Amino acid sequence: MSSETFASLESENIYSCFNSDAGLLTLQGSQVELRRRLDALFCSWAEVVGAIEYSFPPVLSVYSLDLADYFSSFPHLATLTTQIDSNNEGMKRFVDSTRNERLTEVDQNYLTPARYVLPSAACYAVYNHLSNKKLQNDLFITVCSPCFRQESIYKAGERQWTFHMREIVCIGRQETVRNFLNTYRQLITEILDRAKLPFQLREATDPFFDKRDPALILQKLEPLKYEFLYRDRLAITSLNFHRKFFGDRFNIQDCTGEPAYTGCVAFGLERWLSACIREYGQNWENLPAVLQKKEPEVRSQGSGE
Ligand code: AMP
Ligand code: ZN
Repeated sequence: MSSETFASLESENIYSCFNSDAGLLTLQGSQVELRRRLDALFCSWAEVVGAIEYSFPPVLSVYSLDLADYFSSFPHLATLTTQIDSNNEGMKRFVDSTRNERLTEVDQNYLTPARYVLPSAACYAVYNHLSNKKLQNDLFITVCSPCFRQESIYKAGERQWTFHMREIVCIGRQETVRNFLNTYRQLITEILDRAKLPFQLREATDPFFDKRDPALILQKLEPLKYEFLYRDRLAITSLNFHRKFFGDRFNIQDCTGEPAYTGCVAFGLERWLSACIREYGQNWENLPAVLQKKEPEVRSQGSGE
């Protein structure tokens, strides 16, 4: 089990608006700015490997996630989307029968079967995008997306139903992926040390793999996941080595024609935000210099100088 389960920073005092039943967090003002600045910082770390930034649609097809055994491994996490069914005058039936009600839910009889999923990690979209492709070179991609995980308990800034994840992903030959993960292990360790942010680097098992899943047994033999834990309690970043799993399932070939290896570095933006607010307060200018990514200076035009 991931040690983040025991996390508790009592972040309720930080965030004024949190729906703890649904796990929905609202940020405001300097909190939004700090999260944006942290994401810019992670983007600057992605430049270390020359990662190309992508923006994917926020949903993935059931078909695509099923290729990765998503529904047998994590049915508990899944958030599916559906629409009001327009077949057989479905819209009219729905509108007529609910006209005089204040709705809190929509009966499943009015809904289409779910064909799209709000994914629980940002990197699935990368493998989906590269499916059935042969790569000319090893690839580095970065992406940030809203992620959805149905959890049993929610906690503001630490464990939400919906949160944001920035990922840096490497797809290609085994050695490249291993080097990539080592690079980020070192880089993040160094930066957190210099920032004096209290942390631990721990081996972890992935909540991504069900306990009955043979992949978990494999993971025990060779650590496939490391987590950076803030104050020994809260996983803020994970390093994940998937071996050929996604290369096989999505039919992605590396430049030699073999199934591609993949690895990812995942940053939970709201958890970083909570850790930074706890340590340094809400104003990003109080962050240690090593955690500040300065905006490029805007040159004033027409000043006559
Ligand atoms: P994982 O894929 O489980 O390693 O998650 C990647 C990162 O996402 C973690 O290190 C956390 O920072 C963040 N994260 C995971 N689950 C949640 C959640 N329910 N709420 C907020 N952040 C999360
Ligand atoms: Zn990932």
